Amino acid sequence: MSVLRLRDVTVGYGARTVLDGLDWAVGSEDSPVSALLGPSGCGKSTLLRAIAGLEPLVRGAITWDGRDLAHVPVHRRDFGVVFQDGQLFSGRTVGQNVAYGLRRRRWSRAQIDERVRQMLDLVQLPDIAERRVTELSGGQAQRVALARALAPRPRLLLLDEPLAALDARLREELAFAIGDIVRAAATPTVVVTHDRAEAALLADEVSVMRAGAIVQSGTPTRLWRRPADEWVADFLGATLHIDAQAVGEALRTPLGDLEAATFGALPPGRCRLALRPESVRAEPAAPATPAAPTGVVTHVAALPSGLRLRVRTEALGEIDAVAERAVEVGETVSLRLDPSHVGVIGL
Ligand code: ADP
Ligand code: MG
Repeated sequence: MSVLRLRDVTVGYGARTVLDGLDWAVGSEDSPVSALLGPSGCGKSTLLRAIAGLEPLVRGAITWDGRDLAHVPVHRRDFGVVFQDGQLFSGRTVGQNVAYGLRRRRWSRAQIDERVRQMLDLVQLPDIAERRVTELSGGQAQRVALARALAPRPRLLLLDEPLAALDARLREELAFAIGDIVRAAATPTVVVTHDRAEAALLADEVSVMRAGAIVQSGTPTRLWRRPADEWVADFLGATLHIDAQAVGEALRTPLGDLEAATFGALPPGRCRLALRPESVRAEPAAPATPAAPTGVVTHVAALPSGLRLRVRTEALGEIDAVAERAVEVGETVSLRLDPSHVGVIGL
């Protein structure tokens, strides 16, 4: 059962509608951490602000445990919010920042000291309570912002692109850490991001947002394997869509047959598959057959994750592929689909 429900939520700036009849539910026991994933400008921050009570609704309702929040002001919602740049109070120490919400709630001195210590332990920054926030690294500052938001025991945590300002390595490390921290605090959390990898690192459930509406929600694996439509597939990294047709046990494609059973229930007849570069494996050429098409390598790039190719094929023109062994431009290669990286478009 979800605790936060949004029904027909509509928010605009002036005449412009940014959230358009949006329905959503988050905070179930199975999915304590929900990611809101969408391209820049689609309305993610607006949605987070509406949930926090910082944007008025033109229409619709937001409820918590069935109770309408329309007349509950921001500070009474008990929601913790962390924005992109953390927004720590720069003139104060780390401890004073974490204590901020507790002072406002008139906790006693002893309770505050104890809670600040607990929170800094939780974000794995013990013993820095006396430090000035201007001396912190970007990653440390985001952890302190998280500790400050969690300290008053909010019933919901809202994080707006909490990792966007950090460099790639730190981002991944902190993504796992934030997931651990909010689960340890047992606080239902909504995290906004435009980065599909970050969404998968942080969240149990991912909701994809496009132009002011939620278009699909599910586990990351479910989204990769069953994107709702071509737009979702592309946003999640697909670079090619191909037709396929179920024929008996086989799923027939221009890049060879797949075992239909691998994909669970399929729509009858024709379907569309979403491919990413990793979906197509190039191997040293064997003679071409309908089951194993071939192509000619036009580009090779050595990425940290392996060899990335462009391959010219008869059936599909130039497509992306990956290779395990070295290949050269001009070489003919056999192509094989890797079913674990193939998505079926349509729910
Ligand atoms: P996201 O967080 O997904 O990038 P935003 O919610 O920030 O998207 O913005 C959605 C749209 O609303 C954008 O086109 C943005 O320019 C516009 N917008 C955001 N905030 C305001 C505002 N205060 N006044 C007018 N337009 C705004
Ligand atoms: Mg934003």
